[in-house]
Amino acid sequence: MELLTIGAFAKASRLSPKALRLYDELGLVVPAKVDPATGYRLYDPKQLERARLVAWLRRLGMPLTRIRAVCDQPPAGAAQEVRAFWARVEAETAERRELAGFLIDHLSRREPIMPQKLEIRYATRSENGLVRESNQDAAYADSHLLAVADGYGPSGASASAAAIEALKGIESLPAGDLLNVLDEAVDQAGRAVTGVGGADESGTTLTAMLWTGSRLGLVHIGDSRAYLRTASGDIFQVTTDHTLVQSMVDDGRLTPEEAIVHPQRALLLRALWGNGEDRPDVRLHDAEAGDRYLLCSDGLSAVVPPEDLRRVILTVGEPEDAVRELVDLAIAQGGPDNVSCVVADVSAAG
Ligand code: MG
Repeated sequence: MELLTIGAFAKASRLSPKALRLYDELGLVVPAKVDPATGYRLYDPKQLERARLVAWLRRLGMPLTRIRAVCDQPPAGAAQEVRAFWARVEAETAERRELAGFLIDHLSRREPIMPQKLEIRYATRSENGLVRESNQDAAYADSHLLAVADGYGPSGASASAAAIEALKGIESLPAGDLLNVLDEAVDQAGRAVTGVGGADESGTTLTAMLWTGSRLGLVHIGDSRAYLRTASGDIFQVTTDHTLVQSMVDDGRLTPEEAIVHPQRALLLRALWGNGEDRPDVRLHDAEAGDRYLLCSDGLSAVVPPEDLRRVILTVGEPEDAVRELVDLAIAQGGPDNVSCVVADVSAAG
């Protein structure tokens, strides 16, 4: 078999000689032979397929370290790697899209032109459940704040309480400054939890909504959830779980059905705890009359079948009755975890 010079191989593989020298150094495409006298690299034509694959993956924007993992796999494994990479790109793009939307919204509509007068009615319930020794969840609602936190570790109960307590301190909520208020709220909650749980690695989730009278600022970290039922009867999960299994679903490595029964489904990728590095997601929502929000810990969302959850959100009128029924459903399923929720209805004031 006649070996190709780097120039001929570059032309055939649509990679530049410079790129080929780099890929040699990185072990991605190693020449079949290096002339000991001249140092010229020589390539086997059989290497073209791998070199072309590298060229395509570069065009896809895949980092070099990841390209090696793809090239070292048989085709089926390589296909799975590309699929996982692309799912990750799309997830990251979606996250950036959300942030861009948040900023556009914030910069272009600092004050609603004709603010609709709205009010919220709310109810909250938090129970130990039937298995846990103590209740480390916390749930809270007043006319400015809706919040659920799910503490873990030896000081978990103090951590969840401290996170919510920190948000209660935020009093004035001018709509135009909500972005900065949320940022400050995130800092305060983080510091409060580090204060109680930093030493023993306790921590907490936090899913909270701050109410301005027309908009809601969402702060979210961990696997507690917020759902929105719109006036037209659609139900969305507003938050994304910061869990290992959710990241595997995003990567295309796990189906949502597999995630529900995965043995490590409770493993959090982000929470408020002593490291002070994990930051919650923040987001703005324009509230409309007829919206209903449900905030809950995983003791509810992981235990109550989705169809039962939907039914209660859609059909039970009073927030007070809805929280009672939702927690009863979790306990009827064995109450394996602390279970907490807040239900809040947005309606026209007056
Ligand atoms: Mg829990």
